[in-house]
Amino acid sequence: MSHTTSVRTRIAPSPTGFLHLGTARTALYSWAYARHFGGQFVLRIEDTDVARSTQDSVEQILASMQWLGLQHDEGPMYQMQRLERYHAVVEQMIAAGTAYRCYCTPDELDAMREAQRERGEKTHYDGRWRPAPGKNLPAPPADVKPVVRFANPPDGVVNWLDLVKGPISIRNEEIDDLIILRPDGVPTYNFAVVVDDWDMAITHVFRGDEHINNTPWQINIFRALGAPLPLFGHCPIILGDDGQKLSKRRGAVSVTAYRDAGYLPEAMLNYLARLGWSHGDEELFSQEQMVQWFDGTHLAKSPAQWDPAKLAWVNAHYIKQAADERLAVLVQEQLASRGVAASDLSLLARASALFKDRCSTVVELADWTEMLFVAVKAGPEDLALHVTDGLKPALRTLRDHLAAIDWDKAAIAAALKDTLTAHQVKLGQLAPAVRVLVCGRAQTPSIDAVLALFSREAVLARLQHI
Ligand code: GLU
Repeated sequence: MSHTTSVRTRIAPSPTGFLHLGTARTALYSWAYARHFGGQFVLRIEDTDVARSTQDSVEQILASMQWLGLQHDEGPMYQMQRLERYHAVVEQMIAAGTAYRCYCTPDELDAMREAQRERGEKTHYDGRWRPAPGKNLPAPPADVKPVVRFANPPDGVVNWLDLVKGPISIRNEEIDDLIILRPDGVPTYNFAVVVDDWDMAITHVFRGDEHINNTPWQINIFRALGAPLPLFGHCPIILGDDGQKLSKRRGAVSVTAYRDAGYLPEAMLNYLARLGWSHGDEELFSQEQMVQWFDGTHLAKSPAQWDPAKLAWVNAHYIKQAADERLAVLVQEQLASRGVAASDLSLLARASALFKDRCSTVVELADWTEMLFVAVKAGPEDLALHVTDGLKPALRTLRDHLAAIDWDKAAIAAALKDTLTAHQVKLGQLAPAVRVLVCGRAQTPSIDAVLALFSREAVLARLQHI
């Protein structure tokens, strides 16, 4: 198929904060769509909001994309490095009559809107600097730096077939003559985005549906430039679990916050993919499968709700599947962030193998593993309930056995068994007591396997004072 080689998608975040989950999701769709059709995925940084853009945010966005594994084929391009290009296009448009300089001051614009409001009209730019045949424009005031406005077609309808929402149409009379270049020479979003999508030969634009109202302007500018139109797909917002728009105030919305909370990138991608797209009833799938399936159909028209419990379930699945050596490194980082130095990666791998089935996040895995490196403190209730006076002789016998055996799981199991026989107690009594003393909690995986993770010295020290 010849068209399959020409698909080009992009993600164009603004570096005014971290990478949002919503942007990560549209990045995933754009990436998967390009991969599905053997095309290219471009990363562009839209940094024209100079006051709010920061280098720190650029770095966070790049790190998030890399962590998610959404590899771009081109970029990152930075809009602020392309000002000359925007200026050249503006000049072309002015020459062609599709853009014009407007010398209205902010005060004048305020007065214009106020008068419109008084007349009960919807506020709009009244076109006073828009050239027209036979129209006399005022002389440009020397002391005002003009903006450049796009001469939007005055009538007709802008239609497009949205890849997500279906047919959309907006009447041109509802749209103002948009400012495309500010007095300081920085372009506005709706203009720069078009020049870039054109120059970068973007064929498909997936983005959040907060941009639907911008799309008619962009389509009109594409047409004014004689540029080929991409197809647009506007994905609905993501709702928080309270049904409100997902926002900073309603829990973490940055990708990096989830990384730090112990989620795996493949779990995030799998979960994000399903928030607004489906392939039959599939809930758990690899990136390869997603690329194979993602052809721009089956995108949901209505907002999806963020479901932390489902995300935890998806993450637990990937934690179970993850190689123990990989988890060991992640647990090591997590422990380091708590000030716990754990240098023995092979121990961390063995611990991960033992505990990962019970964990939904790397943080939980680190919670389990921490007891191998720092002193534990059992709760008084657990001590009273499990480490009873009646059991102490058995615990002492066990300690003596453990001091004398080869230190491995089988020998530890035998020592436990011998102790049970000698004292006529049950494993259901002895094991919780050992757990409370050694691990600080009454429930763990099989006690012989858990004890084998510790050094003999550490176990004996924790069984010391009984
Ligand atoms: N910079 C815009 C944003 O972050 C990009 C929108 C688009 O994809 O066109 O929302």
